[in-house]
Amino acid sequence: MLAESEFNYRGGGLACEGVDLGALAAEYGTPAYVYSRHGIASRFCAYEEALRDIPHQVCFAVKANSNLAVLSVLAREGAGFDIVSGGELYRVLAAGGDPSRVVFSGVGKTEAEIRFALQQGIHSFNCESEFELDLLSRTAASLGKTASIALRVNPDVDAVTHPYISTGLREHKFGIDIAHAGRIYARAKNLPGVVPEGVSCHIGSQLLDVKPLLEAADKMLALVERLRSQGIAVRYLDLGGGLGVPYRSTDRPLSARTLVEEIKNRIAGRGLTLMLEPGRSIVAEAGILLTRVLLVKNNAKKTFVIVDAAMNDLIRPSLYQAHHEIVPVKQNASVEDITADIVGPVCETGDFFAHGRQIAAVEPGDLLAIRTAGAYGFVLSSNYNSRPRPCELLIDGQAVHVARRRETWEDLIRGEVSF
Ligand SMILES: *Cc1c(COP(=O)(O)O)cnc(C)c1O
Repeated sequence: MLAESEFNYRGGGLACEGVDLGALAAEYGTPAYVYSRHGIASRFCAYEEALRDIPHQVCFAVKANSNLAVLSVLAREGAGFDIVSGGELYRVLAAGGDPSRVVFSGVGKTEAEIRFALQQGIHSFNCESEFELDLLSRTAASLGKTASIALRVNPDVDAVTHPYISTGLREHKFGIDIAHAGRIYARAKNLPGVVPEGVSCHIGSQLLDVKPLLEAADKMLALVERLRSQGIAVRYLDLGGGLGVPYRSTDRPLSARTLVEEIKNRIAGRGLTLMLEPGRSIVAEAGILLTRVLLVKNNAKKTFVIVDAAMNDLIRPSLYQAHHEIVPVKQNASVEDITADIVGPVCETGDFFAHGRQIAAVEPGDLLAIRTAGAYGFVLSSNYNSRPRPCELLIDGQAVHVARRRETWEDLIRGEVSF
């Protein structure tokens, strides 16, 4: 079953599954990330359902949300994982993930990370350069192992998204130019320690239109045919992640099902296992950042709602000019709307969640939910301004699981030594 919305108003208060967010804030404090287990699992299952009748592997992109509880929910559903560092592999293993379903992406893998991944027996490496290909070959051969590899090619399509999360154009640092792929595969075929049996791409993130994804798929399928005709036995086609989510209530993203239906038609009967690496589309909507209003401040021109969360907790608005819906936890029909900037306490003008936003008037102590914060939220958090990072709470029905405890001041200085 697909989650319609795992955050709903009940009796005038916003709840996550069966847990009232007001009560949750009273017990665990704010700011807090709140995730719905059902929301995460059901979105993963939607991919699985849609792919049921073709060979496939869905690898959750760990960088979107790497909390152990989130990873273990997905591991239990049978997910694979797309990692971009040795640290992410360490997390996957700690969460009970199956290393044989892990693909290792990333443009700058170190030899130590490659060795660790080989020793753990991951599924494959998405190799992004000839330098990496040689490093993989040498490292695997020295360990007496054989690495299954895919070359991450750059299909040169415009993903039409924010420039910081667009990755599939020739001018980007990612992947190997598709025009050079044939020659590099031919080289890879003759190197010890590696078997080239996949092709991969990832053109960008927060894609709301299916066209660029299908354009990339078509270019990749043409590449598969070219490679096969030159004697490379390609078995895996990895189309990366990138499916967008509705950050605005007016966004109409395509569903995992729609995307998969389109791709499935193209690859059916070609003897390929389809791999996908969704991150955002599995966890974004299943999470919110819960925050409390500290004060409301009026200056000559503007009203500022100052909340206890800040850019160090959720940097997407500051970093990508991202829009997040912000809603009151308690509905109150009798208050007027105000137009305000919703900002945090950090000493930066860039510390904001919304500019000129119309919201129901709030008072100090009121709770707000910053929606669609389950992806690229906590993972991008920092201790800037010496602010302890928030707790992460995973809700399962009526049950609250503290997925990460709130940091303390002692945590802030752990590992530091005064001189
Ligand atoms: C970031 C990333 C993903 C996940 O992208 P989403 O937009 O979160 O689905 C998948 N694959 C690779 C290689 C990535 O870098």
